Amino acid sequence: MARLRAGIVGAGIAGASCAGTLAAAGWEVDVFDKARGAGGRLSTRRLEQGWATMGSPFISAKRDPFRSQLRDWVRQGWLAPVRGDVLFGRANKSWARAQLQNHYTPLIEPSQIVRQLLGNARLHTESRVATIQPRTIILENGQTRGDYDCVICSVPVPQAVPLLVALPRLHERLGEVRYRPVWSFLMRWEGGPAADVIKFDDHLIDLAVRQPSGGDGLWAVHSSHEFAETYREASAMEASTRAASAVMGLLGLPWPVEVEASHLWRYAQPDTSIGGFWLGDRENRVALIGDGIAGVGVERAWESGMRLAQSLILAKDELADCPSVSD
Ligand SMILES: Cc1cc2nc3c(=O)[nH]c(=O)nc-3n(C[C@H](O)[C@H](O)[C@H](O)COP(=O)(O)OP(=O)(O)OC[C@H]3O[C@@H](n4cnc5c(N)ncnc54)[C@H](O)[C@@H]3O)c2cc1C
Repeated sequence: MARLRAGIVGAGIAGASCAGTLAAAGWEVDVFDKARGAGGRLSTRRLEQGWATMGSPFISAKRDPFRSQLRDWVRQGWLAPVRGDVLFGRANKSWARAQLQNHYTPLIEPSQIVRQLLGNARLHTESRVATIQPRTIILENGQTRGDYDCVICSVPVPQAVPLLVALPRLHERLGEVRYRPVWSFLMRWEGGPAADVIKFDDHLIDLAVRQPSGGDGLWAVHSSHEFAETYREASAMEASTRAASAVMGLLGLPWPVEVEASHLWRYAQPDTSIGGFWLGDRENRVALIGDGIAGVGVERAWESGMRLAQSLILAKDELADCPSVSD
């Protein structure tokens, strides 16, 4: 019997968990990503010595099955619980020291964890998808890949909208989902509080996480959504200058903060989602997964991919029509 075939757009954690689960069940799986590698919002920036995380700094699990997946990654030495000093608050008010419960930090590049989830699926990098049609993926360079038993779109919902105009049943549901942006920076400073994570009580800056490689005093700093909305159209230089001066003020630093890299995540986190684990169009054999469908965070994204794959495997070649499955 011919192997079932899936085409997946997006090699973030949702696309990868779906791809790997299908591939492990014997499906032939192609995954297309516009980026140079897998990872999506879990991708990292390479440094001369090591790497730094500019996307999600933590992975956390509230429940099974992701909790047991995390335990497995901890056993393999890929993740460790966040242990160091965590400060909450504001320097000129008072800092509170506390632990971050159930939060894990990667010990290897998170993009490698995502890469490993892909298993035997074929990853096509630098392959931007322009259109999805029933059973068919059309790349921006004009190539058509077709005859899939199922096409799965695993990109942030606003990026899925232009891909799905040929599929009105899915397309019309997507306007409901909004994402909020975040500016991320790699900053270096001397002094400041002795901590590994600083959670600010501030309207401009949200979080700073000390980076294990890249030498002393290197931090990934995440802006608030409000800051990123204000500076969404600003140059990287302007956003960096504003954020660095906010950090200096918040930490009372005597020396300037150096900004070594910056990135605007236009679609960092959804503030609404469709609900359920996936949104499916059975007739056309297309489904959507990811955090805009299943809810914010790595855990929900991973689970949406895995649950869709399990359902496809159980149904053999029938894509369950599942606009809103509750969990
Ligand atoms: C700054 C920041 C901090 C965060 N902090 C946390 C946190 O502390 N805890 C937490 O749980 N979550 C956090 N998140 C959210 C978390 O990272 C996401 O929920 C999760 O990674 C989403 O995975 P995904 O697979 O759904 O999407 P993505 O990771 O966005 O994957 C989508 C993929 O699709 C690709 N793509 C898009 N368009 C196309 C196209 N046309 N053709 C081909 N490929 C395409 C992209 O390149 C990308 O690789 C954070 C996110 C950001 C940005």
